Parts: sequence; structure tokens; C-alpha cells
Amino acid sequence: MTVSGRPEPAAIADRVAAWAAVRQACARDAVESGRDPATVHLVCVSKTFGADAIEPVLAAGQRVFGENRVQEARDKWPALRERYPGVELHLIGPLQTNKVREALALFDVIETVDRPSLAEALAKEIARLGHAPRLFVQVNTGEEEQKAGVTPGEADAFIAACRERHGLAIEGLMCIPPADQPPSPHFALLAKIAARNGLANLSMGMSADYEQAIMLGATHVRIGSAIFGARPRP
Ligand SMILES: *Cc1c(COP(=O)(O)O)cnc(C)c1O
Repeated sequence: MTVSGRPEPAAIADRVAAWAAVRQACARDAVESGRDPATVHLVCVSKTFGADAIEPVLAAGQRVFGENRVQEARDKWPALRERYPGVELHLIGPLQTNKVREALALFDVIETVDRPSLAEALAKEIARLGHAPRLFVQVNTGEEEQKAGVTPGEADAFIAACRERHGLAIEGLMCIPPADQPPSPHFALLAKIAARNGLANLSMGMSADYEQAIMLGATHVRIGSAIFGARPRP
């Protein structure tokens, strides 16, 4: 950043180059695992980065982005959407039931459906609005205390309840493997749960492990730091 708050031209070029390289790597990984590259969608995770960092990537043609907080998305995305039609915004962080209405106004895809009270709140708001976002169920494959998501053991019943009790069209599953374990077994587990529930989409793989995720069937990889650079630590 310069003093004026404008990004240095070098940073803009770097991010666009990094974005192009990640896209290429995703396509290559897809082909190497015998898949059509068009079946792997890059969700560019722009959390913590401002419009000045995001805009060059939008200008280069990227349209699918992920944010983890409703309020941050509200601050950044309405203005960007006006300038760049066709944006598809994914919520990849936990959603509080009292923010469902606002989330539905901002996001096209909610990847973090993770509990009955949220499913119920979503169903209510969808009925009121008359249209639904695309929905993924988050699975806590590592059964980590601090992480959101249904456990693998609860997943089938939760997906069934979303569909039957709440009338929600679930299109896929999402997971964030434990940071201290090899991710592949978690990706394989998510793929297995999706297959037995008839779900076509798998949101898995981040900057450090998207190659393995694509090999194991990821349809959506969520990539932040490999494109935008390191985020400030919370
Ligand atoms: C931040 C975040 C990402 C992106 O992580 P990187 O390692 O920067 O690619 C992906 N998924 C979720 C849920 C995130 O919160």
C-alpha cells in the first residue's frame, strides 16, 4: 500500500498473475485426474482484503468470490457488484440465525448450513422472499470442538431433515480439514458422504491443498492467500 491507500501497480500485477496461475493449476489438476476443467470452480476468497485488492481480479474476469463475514461482505460487495455484473458471492463462514435475512440479500451461495436452527431460519426466510440461495452443508470431518459443521455421523440425518422437513435444496457439501492433519482422508470422507446422499458438489481445498482436493473430486476450491497474499493474523 502507498500512503494514499492505493495499491502499488506491482501488487495489482502480482495478484492478477497469481490468480491466472491458480486457475491454470486447477485446470491442470482437473485434467490430470481425468476430469473436465469446467467442473472445477475457483472461489476466490477475498476476506480481509479491500475493494482495491479485489477489483483487479474482477477486472481480469473472475466472478466467483468467497467471504466469511456478513458484515464485511455488506461493506464491500454491493458497490463492486454494481460495477461488475455477474458476481457470484459465497458465504464460507458461520451464519448466525439473526443474520439470515441480510445474508440472503448479499450471498448467492451459502456453504455453511450446519445446524437445524439455521436450516429452519433459512427455510422461513426463503419462503418469505420467494427465492432461495444455493446451499451447501458444512461437515466437520475432523470432529473438531472449535469448528462448525455437522459431524460425519450426523450428516445423513441432517441432510435428510434439510430436504424433507425444511424443503431446502441442498446442492453439495463443504469441509475445512484440521490444520494439523493430512487433508486427503477428510476430502475422501466428504466425497463419500456426498455420494451416498446424491450430492454432486464438493467445496473442499484451500491454498495449501487444492491439488489433493481436486484429485478427490472437489467441484469448488476456496482459495485466498495463494491469490491475494498473506492475511493479517487475527
Ligand atoms: C479463509 C478461508 C479459505 C481460504 O484460505 P487460504 O488458505 O487463504 O486459501 C477457504 N475456506 C474458508 C472457509 C476460509 O475461511
